[in-house]
Amino acid sequence: MNQISEAPSLVRSMSALTKTAWTPEFANYFKSSWNDIVEWQKANKDALRELVKLDGIAPVVQPVYHNTVNPSVGIRLHGINKWANENNINIVVHVHFNDYPRKNASVAGTYTGFSIYVPGGQFFNSTSTKAVANTVFKRLAKYNPVSNLRGERSGIIEEQDLIAIGSNNSVDAASLLIEYAYIYEPQLVDPKVRELYLKEIAYETYIGLLDFFDPAGALVEAKTFDTLTLPYKWNNQLTGKNDSPQDVFALQTALILDGVYPPAGLSSNECPRTGKLGPCTRSALQTFQHKYDINNENGIAGPKTIETLNRIYSARTL
Ligand SMILES: [Zn+2]
Repeated sequence: MNQISEAPSLVRSMSALTKTAWTPEFANYFKSSWNDIVEWQKANKDALRELVKLDGIAPVVQPVYHNTVNPSVGIRLHGINKWANENNINIVVHVHFNDYPRKNASVAGTYTGFSIYVPGGQFFNSTSTKAVANTVFKRLAKYNPVSNLRGERSGIIEEQDLIAIGSNNSVDAASLLIEYAYIYEPQLVDPKVRELYLKEIAYETYIGLLDFFDPAGALVEAKTFDTLTLPYKWNNQLTGKNDSPQDVFALQTALILDGVYPPAGLSSNECPRTGKLGPCTRSALQTFQHKYDINNENGIAGPKTIETLNRIYSARTL
C-alpha cells in the first residue's frame, strides 16, 4: 500500500512504507496484532473454501506467474488488508515495479509496460476496484505502454490469489495493485529519467483516482495538460548528443500529445519515453516537422522545431 502523493481531495491518504521501513502506524499494528492477523487470515481461507464448496465462488486459477511471498511479508500484507477493513479505508493502492524470473538478471528482460491487478470477479470488492482501475488505466495508458507479457496484455487483470488485493475475499475496500513498469526499462534504469518518470506516473495515477472520486476536480486539475511534464519551456536545441534528459522527456511527452509518438509502425513498448533522443524520437520528430512545415531540421530539434514546441506546449492556454 502506498499513498498517492499530494492528493488533497482524497479524504485521508496513508502510506504503509517509506523508502526503508514500515511507517509507525503499521509497524505498531503488525506488532500488536500479529496473532490476530494470522487467525483472521485462516478464517478468511476457511470461509472462502466454504464458498467454493457451496459453489458460490470458483477455485483460484493464476493467470500470471507471481513470486511466492515470504511468510512474514504475507502476514504483513494480510495485516494491511485487516487494518483497511477496520479503518473503513475506501481504496488501497499497491505500488509495484515488475520483474520476472529469467536466466541472467543483469540483462534487461523481454517484457515492458504497466498492468493493473484487480480482485477476481467473484470477490466482493471486485466491481468497485474495476471501476477505479479503469479510470487509472486510461490516464496511464495515454502516456505509457501497456504490458506486452501474454497474461497482462489486457492491462487490467483479475486475480484471486494476490494477498495484496484481498485474496480469500478478505478486503472490503477497492484494492488495486499497479505494476508500473519492468525494473530494467530505460526510464527506470537512468536515475535522472527515473526521477521525472516516477513523479509523472504518480501524477497520472492521482488524476486517474480523481476521475473516479472527484471527476469535476480531475477536470480542473488536468485542464490543458494531464501530465506533470507539460507545460515545458525548451531552451536548447536537441541533437542526440549531450541533450538534457529532462528536455527530451518533455519532448517525447509533447510528441505523444501531438499524436506522432510512437512513430507510425512502432508500438509504445518499442518507443517508451526514455529521455534519450534515439531512432523513435527522430522518426517522430520528422512527422512533427512535416506536420508543421518545418524544413531542414531532419529528425533533430533545431531552432524552428523548438520554437514550435514552445508555442504549443510551453504555456497553459485554453
Ligand atoms: Zn509486483
